[in-house]
Amino acid sequence: PTVLGIETSCDETAAALVRSDGDAARGRILSNVIHSQFDDHAAYGGVVPEIAARAHVDKLDQVVRRALDEAGAGWDNVDAIAATTGPGLIGGLIVGTMTAKAIALARGKPFLAVNHLEGHALTPRLTDGLAFPYLLLLVSGGHTQIVLARGLGDYARWATTIDDALGEAFDKTAKLLGLGYPGGPAVEEAATAGDPGRFALPRPLKGEDRPDFSFSGLKTALRQQATALGDLDDRDVADLCASFQKAVTDTLEDRVRRSLVRYRAEIADPSPTLVVAGGVAANRAIRSMLETLCERHGFAFLAPPTELCSDNAAMIAWAGLEHLRLGHADPLDMAPRPRWPLDPSSEPLIGSGR
Ligand code: ATP
Ligand code: MG
Ligand code: FE
Repeated sequence: PTVLGIETSCDETAAALVRSDGDAARGRILSNVIHSQFDDHAAYGGVVPEIAARAHVDKLDQVVRRALDEAGAGWDNVDAIAATTGPGLIGGLIVGTMTAKAIALARGKPFLAVNHLEGHALTPRLTDGLAFPYLLLLVSGGHTQIVLARGLGDYARWATTIDDALGEAFDKTAKLLGLGYPGGPAVEEAATAGDPGRFALPRPLKGEDRPDFSFSGLKTALRQQATALGDLDDRDVADLCASFQKAVTDTLEDRVRRSLVRYRAEIADPSPTLVVAGGVAANRAIRSMLETLCERHGFAFLAPPTELCSDNAAMIAWAGLEHLRLGHADPLDMAPRPRWPLDPSSEPLIGSGR
């Protein structure tokens, strides 16, 4: 089947067509259109929900039109409409959900309500046809989790952040150092010229028995170091970014290692695989650390191409397509869910909605 996916949960307005032939394990991306709202939010140093919602209203119909045109498809070629219905900013979720429902109703096609996190989680199946089970490190703007993916719609959260998400920590670091928004790519870029050993920063929760993550102490320590320096020159900024990225990578390595060991002990899987997904998965230092870690522990390592790490609609179309193949469809009165955990049995930790 061919599925139109719509993504509007944050600050990208995106639409894509994805197809799979029969039971093919992987998908084919026919088009993948993304309109980023960077310029609309840059002046505020972060996403402004009201501005984001209005920009989605403004752009979504053109983005959908382009997704069809670039795929050379008409409505007759589309078998179902999938949209992100959560988690995310409610204004954007409403725009995408209502648009998808309207198309589904007008064209008499099934509507699929997709969890944005499941979109990130299933990306290695779209690109590589990866079979379940696998271990997933989901690192994005709003989430930092280790998830056991057992099957479609069957996810167990093994670890989560007790405070900030990792992408959020990158973004706050960028803001503090005047590197603009979004911060992750800017921090990574600045870090390449920096000395990772110049500033002593904490490795939160490293060595602890609990499997979770924490990044807010790191952010505070970085602010103290930056404040102590006063006026920052380019070298200071590069060294701060490199030291931050090194602290993050060290902490992640320790945290992920715990879950690799647990996976080995609990899951009967002759070919264990670790997947990294979400916007932060684009980071090359993190990818190369994970690759080495996986080699050492006998895990295969899979990271989507960077353009499929950050938010896109191809992953939403694919998640919808996987559900459609199992005969799923969602009712048109289904409401968007600003909070929607991948693992419904997982409680948010204290001080965190994630
Ligand atoms: P969620 O998926 O949790 O709902 P989101 O959709 O807003 O949140 P994504 O678009 O998946 O998040 O990821 C965006 C985040 O990824 C931002 O915080 C951004 O700074 C971060 N990011 C992007 N590229 C890099 C990079 N090269 N290094 C580090 N972080 C990065
Ligand atoms: Mg985004
Ligand atoms: Fe995302």
